[in-house]
Amino acid sequence: MYQDVLLHINGKWCSAVGGKTLDVVNPATEEVIGKLAHAQTADLDAALVAAANGFAIWRKLSAYERSKIMRKAADLVRDRKDAIARLMTQEQGKPLGEASIEVGLSADVIDWFAEEGRRAYGRVIPARTAGIYQLSLREPVGVVAGFTPWNFPMSQAVRKISAALAAGCSFILKGPEETPASCAELVRAFVDAGLPDGVLNLVFGVPAEISEYLIPHPVVRKISFTGSTVVGKHLAAMAGAHMKRATMELGGHAPAIIFNDADLDAAARVLSGAKFRNAGQVCIAPTRFLVQRDVYAPFLEKFTAAANAIKLGNGLDGATTMGPLANGRRVAAMEAFVSDAVQKGATIHTGGKRHGNKGYFFEPTVLGDIPADARVLHEEPFGPLALFLPFGNFDDAITEANRLPYGLASYAYTRSVTTAAALGSAIESGMVSINHQGLGMPEAPFGGIKDSGYGSEGGAEGLEPYLVTKFITQASA
Ligand code: NAD
Repeated sequence: MYQDVLLHINGKWCSAVGGKTLDVVNPATEEVIGKLAHAQTADLDAALVAAANGFAIWRKLSAYERSKIMRKAADLVRDRKDAIARLMTQEQGKPLGEASIEVGLSADVIDWFAEEGRRAYGRVIPARTAGIYQLSLREPVGVVAGFTPWNFPMSQAVRKISAALAAGCSFILKGPEETPASCAELVRAFVDAGLPDGVLNLVFGVPAEISEYLIPHPVVRKISFTGSTVVGKHLAAMAGAHMKRATMELGGHAPAIIFNDADLDAAARVLSGAKFRNAGQVCIAPTRFLVQRDVYAPFLEKFTAAANAIKLGNGLDGATTMGPLANGRRVAAMEAFVSDAVQKGATIHTGGKRHGNKGYFFEPTVLGDIPADARVLHEEPFGPLALFLPFGNFDDAITEANRLPYGLASYAYTRSVTTAAALGSAIESGMVSINHQGLGMPEAPFGGIKDSGYGSEGGAEGLEPYLVTKFITQASA
């Protein structure tokens, strides 16, 4: 059962001051399924006081004690996996199987950072003079404000929360208003695991109002945002103006390069899965399929067949392999991208339009013959659009792959070790996955370069943004 979602401030679940709420809509049915508390400035003030007090308590706990609470939270998430996945599918639309994987991986992320927090080592630096000890220590940065989107309601939030808590920071999360319940369940797991009051606070409301209040606020020492490049640049500028540290996990337009010597069956199977997962609303989704000329036609055929085999429907239905888009804005965006490309000369190989008249469904779409000035070749589609482009040689492929200001993920299929190695160094992206889909694991770095942002959210690198360095030099008295 979907229940109304409250704010979580200073260890308590509460309505917003003034009682304002927002509707939560199921994107598969367009029905209102619940209500969400909508924070006002007074709620944010309460969250700031709570987070400041929470930081004072949490930072004093040993990394060992923090780790124990976090591991318990991970176990609670696993115990509650089925129920949370159902909430996520109802509010976000993705198939239940995908929701379930997201919940499971979120628990793994908590476990990973619970352990990494115990390894936030400093250094002893050899001194020039006997009797002097020079220490470089890692300390938590302080209160963190995080802003996370609706496409992965749990896994976008868990990377930020887990790394921050492991480092000893407290947190105010502005969760995703369109998909609040599964994100709130993540917070509930931490609370039920014994997190002290005030360490983790959850608010929802008008995103711009909340970010403009929290980022400049003196209590907040760091921000972390996942979302579009345009919003990210705005928030990063605000953070810069107030000398706040920032992690920016922004948009992408990933190239997937298929060379003549690739295993085409594996490439079509894996890349179609990666493209249409979560209806393409994934920042690392492959988008530009750069295919070497000799294999362009057979690869296009295999990929299109995989797209045609997708079963669109309500994610709660076991037969569904792709759910709706998250909201009507995404459907309108897909229609605009397709009609602009087709008007300029693109060919639709499959899909290309809205599906049904209830719910925000859009067909898995494959476009070819796309002219260089089509908008979709420049802007992140963030939906189920696969763009096919032929290329001649290695250099042509790299030129196209690196053409855009984005630099998040990239993919390639080749049986040549030489090509794979050359590609790995030539491509401008934060993550490169060759001959399989291997991005987004808790133990590996996750993040972009160029307009896709900065800072890493996974692996040992994921803890770094939440730590500051303190140097202490001490002589014997
Ligand atoms: P949007 O830009 O309005 O919102 C995207 C996310 O940013 C939402 O979570 C929203 O709450 C947040 N946001 C927007 N303005 C904000 C502000 N001033 N302060 C703080 N948070 C703010 O767009 P949308 O229609 O919800 O999504 C469409 C676009 O967002 C997509 O085209 C895609 O590029 C991007 N997006 C990216 C990711 C990702 O994983 N990188 C996830 C969701 C959306």
